[in-house]
Amino acid sequence: MRAAPILLSLLLTASALLYGCQSKPENETGTSNDRLTIYTTVYPLEDFTKKIGGDLVEVKSIYPPGAEAHTFEPTTKTIEQIAGADAFLYIGHGMEPFAEKLKETLKNEPVRFLAAAGGIDLLESSHEEHGEEHGEEHEHNAEEGGGGEHNHGDKDPHVWLDPIRSITIAEQIRDLLIELKPEQKEMFTKNFNTLKAKLEALDQTFQQTVQSAPKKDILVAHAAYGYWEERYGLRQRSVSGLSPTNEPSQKELAALIDWAKRHHIRYVLFERNIPAKTAEMVQHEIGAKALYLHNLETLTDEDRNQHRDYFDLMEENIETIQQALR
Ligand SMILES: [Zn+2]
Repeated sequence: MRAAPILLSLLLTASALLYGCQSKPENETGTSNDRLTIYTTVYPLEDFTKKIGGDLVEVKSIYPPGAEAHTFEPTTKTIEQIAGADAFLYIGHGMEPFAEKLKETLKNEPVRFLAAAGGIDLLESSHEEHGEEHGEEHEHNAEEGGGGEHNHGDKDPHVWLDPIRSITIAEQIRDLLIELKPEQKEMFTKNFNTLKAKLEALDQTFQQTVQSAPKKDILVAHAAYGYWEERYGLRQRSVSGLSPTNEPSQKELAALIDWAKRHHIRYVLFERNIPAKTAEMVQHEIGAKALYLHNLETLTDEDRNQHRDYFDLMEENIETIQQALR
Protein backbone atom coordinates (compact mmCIF):
# COMPACT_ATOMS: atom_id res chain seq x y z
CA MET A 1 0.00 0.00 0.00
CA ARG A 2 1.05 3.54 -0.70
CA ALA A 3 2.32 5.39 2.33
CA ALA A 4 -0.39 7.40 3.99
CA PRO A 5 -0.57 11.01 5.12
CA ILE A 6 2.51 12.97 4.41
CA LEU A 7 3.18 16.28 6.00
CA LEU A 8 5.65 18.07 3.91
CA SER A 9 7.15 21.47 4.04
CA LEU A 10 10.35 20.67 2.25
CA LEU A 11 12.17 23.48 0.50
CA LEU A 12 10.31 26.11 2.52
CA THR A 13 11.44 25.49 6.06
CA ALA A 14 13.37 22.84 7.87
CA SER A 15 11.24 20.03 6.74
CA ALA A 16 9.36 17.18 8.30
CA LEU A 17 8.19 14.11 6.51
CA LEU A 18 5.93 11.88 8.53
CA TYR A 19 4.94 8.48 7.34
CA GLY A 20 1.82 6.63 8.40
CA CYS A 21 3.52 3.44 7.39
CA GLN A 22 6.80 2.60 5.82
CA SER A 23 5.76 -0.11 3.43
CA LYS A 24 7.32 0.15 0.01
CA PRO A 25 4.97 1.07 -2.82
CA GLU A 26 4.63 -1.44 -5.60
CA ASN A 27 6.77 -0.61 -8.55
CA GLU A 28 5.51 1.29 -11.58
CA THR A 29 4.29 -1.72 -13.48
CA GLY A 30 2.25 -2.84 -10.49
CA THR A 31 3.80 -6.28 -10.65
CA SER A 32 5.22 -7.87 -7.55
CA ASN A 33 8.58 -8.91 -8.97
CA ASP A 34 11.74 -8.04 -7.11
CA ARG A 35 13.23 -5.51 -9.49
CA LEU A 36 15.02 -2.60 -7.88
CA THR A 37 13.26 0.74 -8.22
CA ILE A 38 15.74 3.53 -8.83
CA TYR A 39 15.22 7.23 -9.47
CA THR A 40 17.88 9.43 -11.01
CA THR A 41 18.53 13.02 -11.98
CA VAL A 42 20.61 13.72 -15.12
CA TYR A 43 20.09 11.33 -18.01
CA PRO A 44 23.45 9.48 -18.04
CA LEU A 45 22.71 8.20 -14.52
CA GLU A 46 19.47 6.70 -15.80
CA ASP A 47 21.10 5.20 -18.90
CA PHE A 48 24.14 3.76 -17.08
CA THR A 49 21.89 2.25 -14.39
CA LYS A 50 19.76 0.60 -17.09
CA LYS A 51 22.83 -0.68 -18.89
CA ILE A 52 24.39 -2.14 -15.73
CA GLY A 53 21.20 -3.31 -14.03
CA GLY A 54 19.45 -4.71 -17.10
CA ASP A 55 16.10 -6.33 -16.40
CA LEU A 56 16.70 -6.28 -12.67
CA VAL A 57 16.17 -2.54 -12.32
CA GLU A 58 13.30 -0.17 -12.98
CA VAL A 59 14.96 3.20 -13.59
CA LYS A 60 13.31 6.55 -14.02
CA SER A 61 14.60 10.10 -14.22
CA ILE A 62 12.75 12.55 -11.98
CA TYR A 63 13.15 15.29 -14.61
CA PRO A 64 10.21 15.89 -16.92
CA PRO A 65 11.11 15.91 -20.65
CA GLY A 66 13.31 18.87 -21.56
CA ALA A 67 13.50 20.18 -17.97
CA GLU A 68 16.15 22.71 -16.98
CA ALA A 69 18.24 20.65 -14.59
CA HIS A 70 20.07 23.45 -12.80
CA THR A 71 16.92 24.98 -11.33
CA PHE A 72 14.64 21.91 -11.09
CA GLU A 73 12.81 21.27 -7.81
CA PRO A 74 10.87 18.01 -7.27
CA THR A 75 7.14 17.99 -6.57
CA THR A 76 5.64 16.37 -3.47
CA LYS A 77 4.59 13.41 -5.58
CA THR A 78 8.13 12.94 -6.87
CA ILE A 79 9.49 13.11 -3.32
CA GLU A 80 7.04 10.40 -2.28
CA GLN A 81 8.22 8.23 -5.16
CA ILE A 82 11.87 8.74 -4.19
CA ALA A 83 11.06 7.92 -0.55
CA GLY A 84 9.58 4.60 -1.62
CA ALA A 85 12.38 3.63 -4.02
CA ASP A 86 15.43 1.44 -3.42
CA ALA A 87 17.85 4.18 -4.43
CA PHE A 88 18.12 7.76 -5.62
CA LEU A 89 21.13 8.58 -7.79
CA TYR A 90 22.33 12.13 -8.37
CA ILE A 91 25.51 13.88 -9.44
CA GLY A 92 26.26 15.84 -6.27
CA HIS A 93 28.46 18.92 -5.88
CA GLY A 94 25.35 21.15 -5.96
CA MET A 95 24.32 20.18 -9.50
CA GLU A 96 20.91 19.28 -8.04
CA PRO A 97 20.19 22.15 -5.65
CA PHE A 98 17.54 20.20 -3.73
CA ALA A 99 19.37 16.89 -3.27
CA GLU A 100 21.30 17.30 -0.01
CA LYS A 101 18.28 18.73 1.78
CA LEU A 102 16.12 15.90 0.47
CA LYS A 103 18.66 13.34 1.67
CA GLU A 104 18.39 14.80 5.15
CA THR A 105 14.59 14.83 4.96
CA LEU A 106 14.44 11.18 3.92
CA LYS A 107 17.19 9.94 6.20
CA ASN A 108 14.85 7.57 8.06
CA GLU A 109 13.48 6.06 4.86
CA PRO A 110 15.01 2.93 3.35
CA VAL A 111 15.92 4.72 0.08
CA ARG A 112 19.67 4.88 -0.53
CA PHE A 113 21.09 8.22 -1.70
CA LEU A 114 24.15 8.07 -3.92
CA ALA A 115 25.99 11.14 -5.18
CA ALA A 116 27.49 9.25 -8.11
CA ALA A 117 30.06 11.94 -8.93
CA GLY A 118 30.61 12.87 -5.29
CA GLY A 119 34.12 11.40 -5.23
CA ILE A 120 35.24 12.96 -8.51
CA ASP A 121 37.40 16.07 -8.45
CA LEU A 122 35.50 18.57 -10.52
CA LEU A 123 37.13 20.94 -12.95
CA GLU A 124 37.42 24.56 -12.03
CA SER A 125 35.63 26.69 -14.57
CA SER A 126 37.94 28.69 -16.78
CA HIS A 127 35.15 31.20 -17.25
CA GLU A 128 35.79 33.34 -14.25
CA GLU A 129 33.70 36.16 -15.68
CA HIS A 130 30.54 34.09 -15.17
CA GLY A 131 31.64 31.47 -12.71
CA GLU A 132 31.48 33.69 -9.67
CA GLU A 133 27.73 33.92 -9.88
CA HIS A 134 27.12 30.25 -10.50
CA GLY A 135 25.93 29.31 -7.03
CA GLU A 136 23.25 31.94 -6.78
CA GLU A 137 20.25 29.75 -7.36
CA HIS A 138 21.68 26.76 -5.56
CA GLU A 139 20.64 25.82 -2.06
CA HIS A 140 23.28 25.10 0.53
CA ASN A 141 24.85 21.68 0.95
CA ALA A 142 24.01 19.76 4.07
CA GLU A 143 27.60 19.79 5.31
CA GLU A 144 27.64 23.56 5.31
CA GLY A 145 24.74 23.57 7.74
CA GLY A 146 22.21 26.29 8.30
CA GLY A 147 19.80 27.77 5.83
CA GLY A 148 20.09 30.21 3.01
CA GLU A 149 22.05 29.93 -0.18
CA HIS A 150 25.67 29.39 -0.92
CA ASN A 151 28.09 29.88 -3.69
CA HIS A 152 29.77 26.61 -4.49
CA GLY A 153 32.40 28.44 -6.45
CA ASP A 154 33.12 27.85 -10.07
CA LYS A 155 33.28 24.07 -10.20
CA ASP A 156 31.91 22.51 -13.35
CA PRO A 157 29.25 19.87 -12.53
CA HIS A 158 28.86 18.55 -16.12
CA VAL A 159 31.15 15.54 -15.52
CA TRP A 160 29.01 13.03 -17.42
CA LEU A 161 30.07 14.68 -20.69
CA ASP A 162 33.56 13.28 -20.11
CA PRO A 163 33.53 9.59 -21.13
CA ILE A 164 36.46 8.79 -18.85
CA ARG A 165 35.03 10.39 -15.71
CA SER A 166 31.77 8.67 -16.66
CA ILE A 167 33.53 5.34 -16.05
CA THR A 168 33.99 6.39 -12.41
CA ILE A 169 30.29 7.28 -12.22
CA ALA A 170 29.41 3.88 -13.68
CA GLU A 171 31.66 2.15 -11.10
CA GLN A 172 29.69 3.83 -8.33
CA ILE A 173 26.44 2.60 -9.87
CA ARG A 174 27.82 -0.94 -10.27
CA ASP A 175 28.92 -1.02 -6.62
CA LEU A 176 25.55 0.23 -5.39
CA LEU A 177 23.66 -2.38 -7.42
CA ILE A 178 25.93 -5.12 -6.09
CA GLU A 179 25.24 -3.90 -2.58
CA LEU A 180 21.49 -3.96 -3.18
CA LYS A 181 21.51 -7.34 -4.99
CA PRO A 182 24.73 -9.17 -4.10
CA GLU A 183 23.54 -12.38 -5.75
CA GLN A 184 23.69 -10.62 -9.14
CA LYS A 185 27.26 -9.42 -8.79
CA GLU A 186 28.50 -11.35 -11.79
CA MET A 187 25.90 -9.92 -14.15
CA PHE A 188 26.34 -6.33 -12.94
CA THR A 189 30.11 -6.65 -13.31
CA LYS A 190 29.81 -8.05 -16.81
CA ASN A 191 27.40 -5.28 -17.89
CA PHE A 192 29.67 -2.66 -16.36
CA ASN A 193 32.67 -3.99 -18.29
CA THR A 194 30.74 -3.71 -21.55
CA LEU A 195 29.75 -0.15 -20.71
CA LYS A 196 33.32 0.75 -19.77
CA ALA A 197 34.66 -0.53 -23.09
CA LYS A 198 32.09 1.57 -24.97
CA LEU A 199 33.03 4.68 -22.98
CA GLU A 200 36.70 4.11 -23.77
CA ALA A 201 35.92 3.73 -27.48
CA LEU A 202 33.85 6.92 -27.40
CA ASP A 203 36.76 8.74 -25.79
CA GLN A 204 39.04 7.59 -28.62
CA THR A 205 36.61 8.77 -31.30
CA PHE A 206 36.28 12.15 -29.63
CA GLN A 207 40.05 12.48 -29.26
CA GLN A 208 40.67 11.72 -32.94
CA THR A 209 37.92 14.06 -34.12
CA VAL A 210 39.30 17.08 -32.28
CA GLN A 211 42.92 16.24 -33.08
CA SER A 212 42.26 16.18 -36.80
CA ALA A 213 40.15 19.36 -36.80
CA PRO A 214 41.69 22.55 -38.24
CA LYS A 215 40.35 24.75 -35.39
CA LYS A 216 39.76 24.26 -31.68
CA ASP A 217 37.45 27.16 -30.77
CA ILE A 218 33.73 26.73 -30.19
CA LEU A 219 31.15 29.29 -29.12
CA VAL A 220 28.41 27.77 -26.94
CA ALA A 221 25.25 29.16 -25.38
CA HIS A 222 25.82 27.50 -21.96
CA ALA A 223 29.23 26.68 -20.46
CA ALA A 224 28.60 22.95 -20.09
CA TYR A 225 31.61 21.70 -22.05
CA GLY A 226 34.63 22.38 -19.86
CA TYR A 227 35.47 18.68 -19.71
CA TRP A 228 35.94 18.61 -23.48
CA GLU A 229 38.41 21.47 -23.17
CA GLU A 230 40.44 19.60 -20.58
CA ARG A 231 40.36 16.20 -22.26
CA TYR A 232 40.31 16.99 -25.97
CA GLY A 233 41.89 20.42 -26.23
CA LEU A 234 38.78 22.22 -27.39
CA ARG A 235 38.42 25.86 -26.39
CA GLN A 236 34.92 26.81 -25.32
CA ARG A 237 33.67 30.40 -25.08
CA SER A 238 30.18 30.70 -23.71
CA VAL A 239 27.44 33.27 -23.69
CA SER A 240 25.94 32.27 -20.34
CA GLY A 241 27.76 30.63 -17.43
CA LEU A 242 27.91 27.14 -15.94
CA SER A 243 24.25 27.53 -15.13
CA PRO A 244 22.21 28.89 -18.06
CA THR A 245 20.68 31.53 -15.81
CA ASN A 246 24.03 33.33 -15.44
CA GLU A 247 23.66 36.01 -18.08
CA PRO A 248 26.66 38.06 -19.22
CA SER A 249 26.97 41.80 -18.63
CA GLN A 250 26.91 44.23 -21.58
CA LYS A 251 30.66 44.56 -21.33
CA GLU A 252 31.22 40.80 -21.38
CA LEU A 253 28.86 40.51 -24.31
CA ALA A 254 30.77 43.11 -26.30
CA ALA A 255 34.06 41.31 -25.58
CA LEU A 256 32.55 37.99 -26.64
CA ILE A 257 31.25 39.39 -29.93
CA ASP A 258 34.64 40.92 -30.59
CA TRP A 259 36.35 37.59 -29.85
CA ALA A 260 33.94 35.69 -32.13
CA LYS A 261 34.58 38.08 -35.03
CA ARG A 262 38.34 37.90 -34.62
CA HIS A 263 38.23 34.09 -34.54
CA HIS A 264 35.86 33.88 -37.52
CA ILE A 265 33.35 31.87 -35.52
CA ARG A 266 30.77 30.51 -37.96
CA TYR A 267 28.55 28.55 -35.60
CA VAL A 268 26.87 29.15 -32.26
CA LEU A 269 26.19 25.91 -30.41
CA PHE A 270 22.78 25.93 -28.73
CA GLU A 271 20.98 23.31 -26.65
CA ARG A 272 17.40 22.29 -27.32
CA ASN A 273 16.30 22.17 -23.70
CA ILE A 274 17.50 25.66 -22.84
CA PRO A 275 16.15 28.94 -24.22
CA ALA A 276 19.06 31.20 -25.13
CA LYS A 277 17.86 34.62 -26.24
CA THR A 278 21.20 36.30 -25.57
CA ALA A 279 23.07 33.65 -27.55
CA GLU A 280 20.63 34.15 -30.44
CA MET A 281 21.40 37.83 -30.33
CA VAL A 282 25.14 37.06 -30.50
CA GLN A 283 24.52 34.65 -33.37
CA HIS A 284 22.76 37.34 -35.42
CA GLU A 285 25.34 39.95 -34.49
CA ILE A 286 28.24 37.85 -35.82
CA GLY A 287 26.28 36.32 -38.72
CA ALA A 288 26.81 32.75 -37.53
CA LYS A 289 24.67 29.65 -38.08
CA ALA A 290 23.03 27.67 -35.29
CA LEU A 291 24.07 24.14 -34.40
CA TYR A 292 22.82 22.06 -31.48
CA LEU A 293 24.75 20.20 -28.82
CA HIS A 294 23.07 17.90 -26.32
CA ASN A 295 24.11 18.47 -22.71
CA LEU A 296 22.44 15.17 -21.71
CA GLU A 297 21.01 16.77 -18.57
CA THR A 298 17.47 15.81 -19.58
CA LEU A 299 15.98 14.08 -22.59
CA THR A 300 13.27 15.61 -24.74
CA ASP A 301 10.17 13.67 -25.78
CA GLU A 302 11.72 13.33 -29.21
CA ASP A 303 14.89 11.75 -27.75
CA ARG A 304 12.74 9.26 -25.84
CA ASN A 305 10.56 8.43 -28.84
CA GLN A 306 13.67 7.74 -30.90
CA HIS A 307 15.23 5.65 -28.11
CA ARG A 308 18.44 7.66 -28.14
CA ASP A 309 20.88 6.58 -25.48
CA TYR A 310 24.03 8.16 -24.05
CA PHE A 311 26.15 6.92 -26.95
CA ASP A 312 23.77 8.05 -29.70
CA LEU A 313 23.66 11.53 -28.19
CA MET A 314 27.41 11.76 -27.64
CA GLU A 315 28.13 10.56 -31.18
CA GLU A 316 25.78 13.24 -32.50
CA ASN A 317 27.66 15.74 -30.35
CA ILE A 318 30.96 14.64 -31.85
CA GLU A 319 29.54 15.13 -35.37
CA THR A 320 28.33 18.59 -34.38
CA ILE A 321 31.74 19.49 -32.96
CA GLN A 322 33.38 18.24 -36.14
CA GLN A 323 31.21 20.59 -38.19
CA ALA A 324 31.77 23.55 -35.83
CA LEU A 325 35.56 23.11 -36.01
CA ARG A 326 35.75 23.17 -39.81
ZN1 LIG B 1 24.24 22.60 -17.34
